[in-house]
Amino acid sequence: MKLFRFNGGRIGLTAGTSSYDITDALGVDTAMWPPVQMVQLIADFDAKIQGITKHPQTRSVDFSTLRLDVPIEWPNKLLAYPVNYIKHGEEMKSTNRADRNGFFMKANSSLSGPNDPIVLPDVPGREIHHECELGIVIGKKGRNISRADALGHVFGYACLIDMVVRGNEERVMRKSYDSFCPFGPYIVTADEVPDPSGLQARLWVNDVLKQDANTRDLIVDIPEMIETASRVATLFPGDIIATGTPEGVGPVVRGDRIRIAIENVGEMTLDVR
Ligand code: MN
Repeated sequence: MKLFRFNGGRIGLTAGTSSYDITDALGVDTAMWPPVQMVQLIADFDAKIQGITKHPQTRSVDFSTLRLDVPIEWPNKLLAYPVNYIKHGEEMKSTNRADRNGFFMKANSSLSGPNDPIVLPDVPGREIHHECELGIVIGKKGRNISRADALGHVFGYACLIDMVVRGNEERVMRKSYDSFCPFGPYIVTADEVPDPSGLQARLWVNDVLKQDANTRDLIVDIPEMIETASRVATLFPGDIIATGTPEGVGPVVRGDRIRIAIENVGEMTLDVR
């Protein structure tokens, strides 16, 4: 199943080839603030989704006509792992490695959707880089989650671009500009991604392939990311983990178009402004 937000915060799902607007059936208020509607749905997913496609207030929609919004707008946390591919560490000449450094955080407000532009800040002389990453969405609350239990806490996956201004300021600041975390285009539920440790992830800038790697080469794999993070902080439904980028990062400038595609997960194209 694919779960998405569209047309100003409505909630939809795709099952097989059929797509539905389930906003009214769920009783969702699209104007609610803070906008935690999707987090609430994920937190009680099995009960809320039961029979939803047959609900009298569910409507069929033509997915191709929808304007998709960021699928999760207001998570409790947006975690990310640094230098989680050997070759990316080498290209950055970095001594950091995810297995030694653990995770960092990006501002939740850096999240943006598949139709939102990436807006570059005015930082003369500085490079702003794309990082192609798989995004994990947590489905079940947990603390001290064991490696063996970790995948049972995953709700689904989405494409994620971890944008960053290169430089020496705190990483959380350089990665937290508004629109620096395009996420989407929808969440693919975990049952549709049977092996998240074997996904090819690619990123193009202006149709030139820049990044092309497989999640099997992650230094810290998905279960270990969840184990490590949950040893520090309770993970909540809707929390997002950015898994780290492979080699091939590089600068983007205004007018570029970035396309990200992850096998079994989806793809989206973003304008850089
Ligand atoms: Mn990253």
